[in-house]
Amino acid sequence: MKLVKLIANLGYGSRKDVTAMFREGRITDADGEVLYADDKVEHGAIRIDGEPLDAPAGLVLMLHKPVGYTCSTKDPGRVIYDLLPPRFRLRSPLLSPVGRLDRDTSGLLLMTDDGALLHRIVSPKAKLAKVYDATLAQDLRGDEAEVFANGTLLLESETTPLHPAKLEVLGPRLARLTLTEGRYHQVRRMFAAVGNHVEALHRPRIGGLDLGELPAGQWRALGPRDLDTLF
Ligand code: URA
Repeated sequence: MKLVKLIANLGYGSRKDVTAMFREGRITDADGEVLYADDKVEHGAIRIDGEPLDAPAGLVLMLHKPVGYTCSTKDPGRVIYDLLPPRFRLRSPLLSPVGRLDRDTSGLLLMTDDGALLHRIVSPKAKLAKVYDATLAQDLRGDEAEVFANGTLLLESETTPLHPAKLEVLGPRLARLTLTEGRYHQVRRMFAAVGNHVEALHRPRIGGLDLGELPAGQWRALGPRDLDTLF
C-alpha cells in the first residue's frame, strides 16, 4: 500500500493532509530522516512528528472509562472517543468498543478495529470473565451469591435464564460480581432482581487483564503479551 493511503487510513488526515505532512517534513524514519511519499519503508520504521505510527489493522487498546462518557459515536454528550486522539475516530476500519459500559459505569473498556478479535472476546462461547465492583443502595440480604450462582435467575422481560455468576461480598453494600456473559444493563438488573439498587459500578478486569494503575480517562495500546493475559 502507498504510504499516503496507509497513513490516511490510520486516521492521521485525508490523503491531501498526509501529502502536506510529507511536504512539511513531519514524516520521518526512526533516525529522523525525512521520508517522501513514494519511499518504501516498513510500517514500524515510520515516525510522525517523532512518534511511531499507530499499529495497522489489529490495534487493540484499553481505556479506563470514567463515569459520564457513553460508548457511542453519536451521543450529543461526552463520548469515549473524546478521550482518544482524534485520529482514532477516523481510522478505517473503525475502532469500536468491545461490548459496552453504561454512561454511569467506569472501568476497563477494550477497543479494537479487529472484528475477529472483537467477536472472540464478546462471544458467549469464550466465557471470558468480566469483573464488576458494585456499590449498593442497601445492605446485601445474604442470599444473593446463591441466587446468582444457580443459573436459574430470569431478568425481567427475558426468557433465557442467566449463566451462573459469582458474587463476592466485599462489604455490607459492596460486592464483586463476575459474569461470563454481557446482557443489557446486566449487573444493575441483577441487583434489581434481588431488591437492591446499584449506586456505582466499576469494571476493574476482563479475563486476566487488569486496569492496573491506568488513571481514569487514560488509555494504552495493548501488545501480544496483554492479549495472552486476556484469554
Ligand atoms: N452491567 C451493567 O449494568 N452496566 C454496565 O455498564 C456493565 C454491566
